[in-house]
Amino acid sequence: MTKKNPNLTAEQKLILFEEGTETPGSSELNYEKRDGFYHCVNCDAKLFESKTKYESGSGWPSFYDSLKDVFETKTDHHLGYARTEYHCKSCGGHHGHIFDDGPAPTGKRFCNNGACLVFKSK
Ligand SMILES: [Zn+2]
Repeated sequence: MTKKNPNLTAEQKLILFEEGTETPGSSELNYEKRDGFYHCVNCDAKLFESKTKYESGSGWPSFYDSLKDVFETKTDHHLGYARTEYHCKSCGGHHGHIFDDGPAPTGKRFCNNGACLVFKSK
C-alpha cells in the first residue's frame, strides 16, 4: 500500500511512483559529506548512514550499503536488460538501482536518486 506525502514535487512523484530517474549531477546531496542519516522523502524512514556514502562519479548519491531491512528489490527491464530496482519497504517508493561495482566491504553500489532522500545531520 503506497502512501503519498502531499508535499512531494512532481519530480519526486515521478521517481518514487513511476520509477523515474533524476538528471545526473542535479542533486545537492552529491556533495553532502556531514555525519548523519538519509531518510525517505516520502515516509521519513531512515535508509542510509553517511559513513556508507562514497563518490562513485556517477552523478547520483551512492552508498555501498543501506541500513538493515529497509528496502525491497525487484528486477526491471526498462532499459532492455535486467537491473535490480530497490524501493522503500515502508512506503513502496522507488529510490534507485543496485549495481555490483561498489567498493569493499559489500561490492555493492546503491545508486540513489537524491530527490528521494532527505539528509539529517547528527
Ligand atoms: Zn519511504
